[in-house]
Amino acid sequence: MLRLERVSKTYRVGAFARTSLKAVRDVSFELRPGEVVSLIGESGSGKSTIGRMILRLTQPTDGRITFEGTDITGLRGRGLKEYYRHAQGVFQDPFSTYNPIFRADRVFAMIRQSYFPNVRDAEWRDRVADAISSVNLNPDLVLGKYPHQLSGGQLQRLLVARALLLDIKLLVADEIISMLDASTRIDVLNLLADLKERGLAVLFITHDLSLGNYLSDQTVILRKGAVVERGTTEKVFGDPRHPYTRTLLASVPRLGTRWEDLPVPETEGHECDAPPEEVDDDHFVACFDRVHHGRKSESV
Ligand code: ADP
Ligand code: MG
Repeated sequence: MLRLERVSKTYRVGAFARTSLKAVRDVSFELRPGEVVSLIGESGSGKSTIGRMILRLTQPTDGRITFEGTDITGLRGRGLKEYYRHAQGVFQDPFSTYNPIFRADRVFAMIRQSYFPNVRDAEWRDRVADAISSVNLNPDLVLGKYPHQLSGGQLQRLLVARALLLDIKLLVADEIISMLDASTRIDVLNLLADLKERGLAVLFITHDLSLGNYLSDQTVILRKGAVVERGTTEKVFGDPRHPYTRTLLASVPRLGTRWEDLPVPETEGHECDAPPEEVDDDHFVACFDRVHHGRKSESV
């Protein structure tokens, strides 16, 4: 459904854009309908850049992103609008999506204006109320409120409700639970599980490893813009092959571990830029030969 093929993004930075920063390097993975893919990596590893490229908020420097076979990087005007009917994002800071001077209803009104101008008032009110109820909010209590009168979790759920009014097939969820308290987190995770049940594909972006395996089918581990390991969550979490993944997983049981506190994984001093190769069905590891060369005697 959504396929990234060797996607890279280089930002021009510095005065006169003379320096460049490779934020995303040769990233490939795929999302299928009804599948949750976790994209996991520490801060600055390029996760949001990938999400933004998928949502056409920024363009890749190289590579291809296709949605149902169509290259999305070339979409303009009507084509792009059609794409947004199927692909939507929810972000870490939901407040940024809302204009503080308008009531929360406005995000729904905007969808109506662009996509459903011919739907009658009563019918539209019903649809909005249904969508809001399906994200476990009470329409009477949230509509009519200003963004600052709602919690971050409520605003995020309203954005999911807005997406549900469209014919959504793909949701990019970028760090959506990082800033929520524990009880709201569970609600939002359960909501994502419901979306999956409905056949939606969800890209679940997180820097929190302990949340990554909660509902995902596939896991992609990102390091400095490149994929070090990816595959079914079962294989990546159950049989991690890359030393980086192993170190990360070994630290997971310690709740509250911060990435900065993690030991630097031993990669035998090799810096390897090669994209991951398939080492097993649905299991890809970067620089597999190199990272495993010389470690066999350690029975890893
Ligand atoms: P993550 O979401 O994993 O924290 P990002 O995708 O936000 O990572 O950022 C990856 C890298 O790209 C970081 O080094 C960040 O500073 C840089 N970056 C992100 N957006 C821009 C931008 N618009 N211009 C220049 N550099 C950027
Ligand atoms: Mg980010």
